[in-house]
Amino acid sequence: MSLAPAPTVPLDARFARELPELARAWRAEEAPDPRLLVLDEPLAVELGLDPAALRRPEGLRFLVGEALPPGAQPVAQAYAGHQFGGYSPRLGDGRALLLGELVDTEGRVRDLHLKGSGRTPFARGGDGLAAVGPMLREYVVSQAMHALGIPTTRSLAVVATGRPVVRETLLPGAVLARVAASHLRVGSFQYAAATGDVDLLRRLADHAIARHHPGAADADNPYLALFEAVLAAQASLVARWMLVGFVHGVMNTDNMTISGETIDYGPCAFLEGFDPATVFSSIDSGGRYAYGNQPLAAEWNLARFAEALLPLIADDQERAVELAVASLGGFRPRYNAAWAAGMRAKLGLAPTVDDAVLVPLLDDLQALMQQSRVDLTSFFRSLGTAARGDAEPARRVVLDLAAFDAWLERWRALGSDPVAMDRVNPVYVPRNQLVQEALDAATDGDLDPLERLVDVVARPFDDRPGLERYAAPSPEGSGPFVTYCGT
Ligand code: AMP
Ligand code: MG
Repeated sequence: MSLAPAPTVPLDARFARELPELARAWRAEEAPDPRLLVLDEPLAVELGLDPAALRRPEGLRFLVGEALPPGAQPVAQAYAGHQFGGYSPRLGDGRALLLGELVDTEGRVRDLHLKGSGRTPFARGGDGLAAVGPMLREYVVSQAMHALGIPTTRSLAVVATGRPVVRETLLPGAVLARVAASHLRVGSFQYAAATGDVDLLRRLADHAIARHHPGAADADNPYLALFEAVLAAQASLVARWMLVGFVHGVMNTDNMTISGETIDYGPCAFLEGFDPATVFSSIDSGGRYAYGNQPLAAEWNLARFAEALLPLIADDQERAVELAVASLGGFRPRYNAAWAAGMRAKLGLAPTVDDAVLVPLLDDLQALMQQSRVDLTSFFRSLGTAARGDAEPARRVVLDLAAFDAWLERWRALGSDPVAMDRVNPVYVPRNQLVQEALDAATDGDLDPLERLVDVVARPFDDRPGLERYAAPSPEGSGPFVTYCGT
């Protein structure tokens, strides 16, 4: 197999062609001095791109959107969205561009997209740019999510542009090259529905079915089936987030994909001390998108998705609402089942353990974890050690030892498999202070901490000597961690 030198990669313009009403032809701003910060070489190869060619000057010009392969038609995508509950009819790619779609080496259609590539017609008051730190945050966290087996958009590369961006201070600018199954969001459907053009809405839904949920095409009601497929994908996705303690931070409807991939790593962070009320984002003062609210936020977003789809679900509006409400009722059982299955695995329990035993066991464990604010990641790893016979590491972090010992006894009586536990309980997640340290160093020109962190989170389940620092919770007293959006 030969790999295409980047600037000649064949990029399709399927989205622009099939949905011109949602696409504005646009070009990236020039980068005065492009410099490669990170490149995911295996991902490049998976996409059929030659990593060596991407590293060369013309490859970098491709990665910032300046050098376009023949036939490429970059567009800014239109979408709407509910942001923190308030509806914005016109968001769209204010600082991003869809370069086009390519077919990867496994035959899958993938979007190649840029973030931080300059102002577009959707920029509103924004400068269209992105700083090195936040683009590297998206790079490292999406790498970690992928390695954890959680569906996510991918980061191909981050290129420093040589153009400063004005935030609270002047910061070095960067462009992220992002890869996704698609960039269709709930907000894309809200935008199409709001135009009142049912033909556009139907073309968008057909495009989404063809790309992500082809089985829906054969259903009696394909658009209701699309809704149910997205609901199932999101129920499973959010359960995966909850199981590893991922807090997305901005679960607006424009940040929820139709594919079921995690998208837009803004003020996201990983939970350390277990508390459902945990919020990291500086812009989420009300705690709407707190860790424990994420399933509800997903359900709320899905209700907005259903509203947008109503004209396609049935001609009669009342009938359409009835059908959509019935389907939406499937979210909680699906989410609960996915979460309980994940917890069962985290505790190394066999599928034969009855739900009537499992559910109270999980409830009691959560209460103990919350009471002691245990570090979620290391605590589950220490339960693996407990399953091997040494409960001390887990007991050390729990306050109510009598209750915990009683819980341990109930759990051990069910028989748990420590090897299976180690396959699903990560040792390493991108811990907030380590991410921040790596981003700060990279902003100052030192990429070593970032490269080390990327290497650590790429193999999250293998305990490796010498990496204790990456497995440990933040030192106590370092204060609540805050992440910033408006990136
Ligand atoms: P996000 O918080 O990244 O999901 O972005 C929400 C909306 O704000 C999207 O429409 C973005 O395109 C837009 N946006 C965010 N930052 C900027 C920026 N610096 N310039 C222009 N638009 C932006
Ligand atoms: Mg977004």
